[in-house]
Amino acid sequence: MKMSEYNQQQVEAFMMVRHYLHCLSRARIRQVKRRVRNYMRFRADVAAFQTLHFSEICTHKCFTSQTSACCGREGIATFFADVVINVLLSSEVEVDAVLQALFTDRGGFKCVYLTEDGCVWRLKPIVCEMFLCRHAKENVFSANDALQKRWERLRRRERRYTWPSGPVLFDEMEELFIRAGYDSPLMYLHHSPGLLRVKERSGKFH
Ligand code: SF4
Ligand code: SF4
Repeated sequence: MKMSEYNQQQVEAFMMVRHYLHCLSRARIRQVKRRVRNYMRFRADVAAFQTLHFSEICTHKCFTSQTSACCGREGIATFFADVVINVLLSSEVEVDAVLQALFTDRGGFKCVYLTEDGCVWRLKPIVCEMFLCRHAKENVFSANDALQKRWERLRRRERRYTWPSGPVLFDEMEELFIRAGYDSPLMYLHHSPGLLRVKERSGKFH
């Protein structure tokens, strides 16, 4: 079975990230890890919020009936920085498992990364982490304004890492690889016309 373009791009991104990180010194790897520390705190906060307020409804609505709108095939955009951070946090075996999922994909309607044990990423892509369907949001937020405000604050925090109206971590991670001579269609902060316009309008990139 021919590999889809989506899977091909994912494979290439994972392989180039793994290859380049292998070339870096331990000191440099520690430096990059320090750079993502704040982001990891943010991710832990989002995960805790999701677990506390959404696990019950998601289990009830989707996981028991297997009708989830989450984790559909090629339904998510993975940012290049998602791949970098995931590889940074993963063991070799975990990266192999991601590649194995891509190489052995047999199609279907579920995300290529969804296995029987859940998502094969060590730290799932940010788009997945921040996704809440309308049903879940209406159920949880309709009776609780304070909770909705906390979610909106988390969304604003997300933008500090991903939205390039100024220098952000996701842009920096792409830059690290671009300077080393790599390129990938997943580098949306350097290739997406919409995000390039955001950068241009901000006047903070030269
Ligand atoms: S966010 Fe919505 S679609 Fe996704 S698992 Fe929860 S209830 Fe299901
Ligand atoms: S990457 Fe993981 S969390 Fe995201 S859609 Fe695929 S299986 Fe679900």
